[in-house]
Amino acid sequence: MQQEPSGHGPAEIVACVSQKGGVGKTTTAVNLAAALAENKIRTLLVDLDPQANATSAVGVEKQAGRSLYGPLHGEGTALQKVTKTAYSPLSLIPSEEDLAAAEIEIAQMENYLGKLHAILQPVRASGRFRVILIDCPPALGMLSMNSLAAADFLLITLQCEYMALEGLGQILRNVERLKAARVNERLELGGVIMTMYDARTNLARQVVDEVRQHLPDKIFGTVIPRTVRLSEAPSFGKPITAYDPDGPGTEAYRGLAAAVIARFGLKYARPAVQIGRAHF
Ligand code: ATP
Ligand code: MG
Repeated sequence: MQQEPSGHGPAEIVACVSQKGGVGKTTTAVNLAAALAENKIRTLLVDLDPQANATSAVGVEKQAGRSLYGPLHGEGTALQKVTKTAYSPLSLIPSEEDLAAAEIEIAQMENYLGKLHAILQPVRASGRFRVILIDCPPALGMLSMNSLAAADFLLITLQCEYMALEGLGQILRNVERLKAARVNERLELGGVIMTMYDARTNLARQVVDEVRQHLPDKIFGTVIPRTVRLSEAPSFGKPITAYDPDGPGTEAYRGLAAAVIARFGLKYARPAVQIGRAHF
């Protein structure tokens, strides 16, 4: 039974991945991270998208040399790139435009799927964080695949719109492939988050029902509403918990954080066991 207080064990790595752009990955990564931090969960947000939306959304400026670009190329360590945010205990590894080049360069490297896993290992084992949340770029490119290879859990955000389920199969097949190839046997679908829900439309309700039928154990009960506040907050460099603390967006992400804490057992330290990994 897990009874230790929060802290000390290795961190869980959670990747927000999608094969499609603009489905609420970054909004979810940022606001879930902030809501976890409100619960005193030591959270590290890793911005792996060259667009650096998550970086600016927590009020950190893009700056050359601060991203994982260097460590992915064997220069410096990921721990050196960790920076504090104003939303303690939320820390960030920022992104920068160079990461776009990494997308191509990694593909030429040996052991190309295991690059992120390797550089995150010391961060995971440092005991500084309980959870590491990775915000991935749109599309299932090399950086997203590296995130899947490094993660314990995958979080999928789906927009409450027609064809929401399109592409879900593709990600799930990739997960199975990574497992079958023994690249990452731990990887699990951690959950599906329905975003941009508009209660006024029948379609949104139908889409949620459809996903619920397909993945009853994986869909989170908390659905994220479409609210203009969620789209405004990043331009103020604030997560929704700070920008609109009493609004529906905050309420939703707090609800999601509670569900994530329960589902992933984040209140407790994971026992510090070595997890064997096949070489690839
Ligand atoms: P990309 O694939 O380009 O990284 P993404 O999947 O990270 O996109 P977001 O950037 O989170 O998606 O969201 C896309 C757009 O929708 C943004 O402008 C964001 O502010 C807005 N948005 C996201 N969630 C909501 C919401 N619940 N209500 C209103 N607007 C939202
Ligand atoms: Mg994004």
